[in-house]
Amino acid sequence: MDNIRAVLFDLDGTIYYGSKLIPGADRVVNKYRQEGKKIFFMTNNSTKSRKQIWEKLTGMGLKCSYDEVYTSGYAAALYAKQMGYHTVYIMGSKALEEEFGELDITVSDQAEVVIVGYDMTFDYQKLTDALQVAFHADKIIACNKERHYPGENAKRMPGCGAMVGALEGSLGREVDYSVGKPNPLLMEIICKDNDLRPEEVVVVGDTYESDIVMAQNYGSSAVYIGEEDHKDIKCIHAIGELL
Ligand SMILES: [Mg+2]
Repeated sequence: MDNIRAVLFDLDGTIYYGSKLIPGADRVVNKYRQEGKKIFFMTNNSTKSRKQIWEKLTGMGLKCSYDEVYTSGYAAALYAKQMGYHTVYIMGSKALEEEFGELDITVSDQAEVVIVGYDMTFDYQKLTDALQVAFHADKIIACNKERHYPGENAKRMPGCGAMVGALEGSLGREVDYSVGKPNPLLMEIICKDNDLRPEEVVVVGDTYESDIVMAQNYGSSAVYIGEEDHKDIKCIHAIGELL
């Protein structure tokens, strides 16, 4: 850890399950902070804004600042902005709409791009509405394609991939781009914002196919929290083992 300047923590299944902090998570974060490392939290969860995630973390007693939190929704808004798009249609949450609004991108049903985010109130009507826009859109961008994630008591909950799959199934084609893990875009944004190089950061996460593969895609190291060793990486069983 000597050459490491920043620790990037996944959230669901690493820092918390649903509304409960995982034992030891706050002490691990504080330990790295005291060692002088920068701390960041990255999540594929696009149903909440960065501010809402920050409020959730601080509400759980984990001290952090707003600008340490990065979400796939925020990354999607930055990506759309960089690509020069001015109007988007959101098949996702209100909070996701707000992320785009903050970057002065207009949310409309006459849009250039359809953004697909995780939405716990997703239903047939929302799919129908999005489909009408998607037929004529330049691009369809997914916040991520995660199949499922650990909710309360580690119960597996359908992720954004379920919404992406519904739209892809009705359109008859795949979405054009997915911004979330394992795409290293979130890491690129964090490193650019904070002047960090890939070899100076470590990712701590519980999902091999998103967290660990993302770190590998970016040329960074990773700590895998899992049940058993996976391919090329040994696992630890809980974040508390980092104490
Ligand atoms: Mg996770």
